[in-house]
Amino acid sequence: MEHFDITVIGSGPGGYVAAIRSAQLGYKTAIIEKYDTLGGTCTNVGCIPSKALLDSTHHFSDALHKFKVQGIEVGEVQLNFKQMYDRKADVVLKNTQGLEFLMKKNNITKLHGTASFVNNNQVKIVDASGTETQISSDKFIIATGSKPSSIPGIEIDKKRIITSTEALALTEQPKEIIIIGGGVIGVEMASIFNRIGTKVTILEYADYLIATMDHELGKTLQKILKKEGVDIQLQQSVYKAENQGDSAKVWFKDKNGTEQTLQADYVLMAVGRRPFTQGLGLENTSVKLTERDFIKVNEKLQTEAANIYAIGDVIGGAMLAHKAEEEGVFVAETINGQKPHIHYNRIPGVVYTWPEVASVGATEEELKRDGIAYNSGKFPFSASARARASMDLDGFAKVLVDPKYGEVLGVHIIGARAADLIASAVVAMEYEVTAKDMFTMSYAHPTYSEVVKEAYMLASGQAAINI
Ligand code: FAD
Ligand code: NAD
Repeated sequence: MEHFDITVIGSGPGGYVAAIRSAQLGYKTAIIEKYDTLGGTCTNVGCIPSKALLDSTHHFSDALHKFKVQGIEVGEVQLNFKQMYDRKADVVLKNTQGLEFLMKKNNITKLHGTASFVNNNQVKIVDASGTETQISSDKFIIATGSKPSSIPGIEIDKKRIITSTEALALTEQPKEIIIIGGGVIGVEMASIFNRIGTKVTILEYADYLIATMDHELGKTLQKILKKEGVDIQLQQSVYKAENQGDSAKVWFKDKNGTEQTLQADYVLMAVGRRPFTQGLGLENTSVKLTERDFIKVNEKLQTEAANIYAIGDVIGGAMLAHKAEEEGVFVAETINGQKPHIHYNRIPGVVYTWPEVASVGATEEELKRDGIAYNSGKFPFSASARARASMDLDGFAKVLVDPKYGEVLGVHIIGARAADLIASAVVAMEYEVTAKDMFTMSYAHPTYSEVVKEAYMLASGQAAINI
């Protein structure tokens, strides 16, 4: 039986990063993946394919709505749905091939099949043909990720009642789609389909879209998506969905408790994701689960079995690729005797709608709830010369600052390229740079980053210059 220093189970962003960092630190490392390709949810059916389609549909929408104004005549703009999805598949393929290369380059042993613990130190791996291999390892890192959740009464049949995974692999453009859940997946999927002319309805239980983020972001995003034609119905409680053959039907109660139904080509469930531990054989180890079925870990991300660690979506917290990656590095370095640290409240969250939404640190709602004093500075993209030049005038940057010391408590942006703009806010928070320091430095003109600079000024009590 082959023995390894560190064995990683699952090859998503948590797993592949943990394996690479382990190998870099000199450990004999193995990675086990049950699917044919490496990369997990993020690379195969999540971050990467969704961003490829968001990009294509963004171009399509620009060609329809912006080109003419900008003096570009292209004749009739037509959608080639198959080509759009084929390009997405190619982007995924290139990324999974890149991961294969990285595994080879770092001398990581790749094992294909479903891993299941025999005990705390051994796993068996069963591949698609039923062939079984056993290995042993000093340490294990579980990075088995998550799967889409549903709600009681709704069975995801993957035909008419689908998840993001099926929506990212459709072969024909749907005419109408109903999305249950106006969280991150809900609004990203709504953007993809609405831009290409599919009629999209979002049914969301909460009072806001992307309700875990600062509420002003959700309110603004709602206005923008509504203006673009998405039917957004908040405070709706969906309780039943049924495959009707060539369509799907949902039953829900509106805010007054009145029963309603809707029908469309597909119902897309986007009501969150749950940890995936099925078939892992955890019952043969001392690993324990939390009440919500996440793998229970301590501050070192160590399970109840001292040699088994767990990272990423399967342990809960923000279900984000870069959070899983941070944890992968953290565990490899912890095993190595180093003292790494993760500031969980400084991990940014990004929604890749257009405009993009990005956030780091505390929301206004959290500061109010916790009785923490703050000053707020908010600056609109409509006052930015760069935004005007690019016809991207929607949105704002909002900075929340400690009134006494000027510490940056939270930064919330909805606007063009917010996903990239948030990086400097992460630096400000990670290294405790004050809001004043953040605006007493040069920002190139004309850039979107000036919008954030102006928000730092306003939050520090300095009048905006207006760019
Ligand atoms: P996963 O990526 O889920 O990988 C787990 C892997 O483990 C899988 O490949 C699985 O096959 C394998 N596995 C499970 N059990 C076993 C077993 N017993 N044996 C062998 N292998 C096993 N996050 C972002 O930060 N940015 C985004 O833009 C973004 N977009 C998303 C879009 C969509 C549509 C979805 C669904 C998610 C998105 N996410 C995004 C979330 C992101 O995909 C996850 O947070 C991330 O993939 C979690 O990584 P992970 O390593 O914990 O697990
Ligand atoms: P989510 O938790 O973001 O949103 C789920 C939404 O469904 C919530 O707003 C909830 O109120 C609503 N909901 C639940 N039950 C309902 C009901 N019965 N009727 C109507 N609405 C209901 O989850 P998600 O959008 O499915 O995303 C799953 C995970 O994937 C998230 O944790 C997210 O972080 C991650 N993800 C991240 C990105 C990104 O980083 N850009 C993209 C996609 C997914």
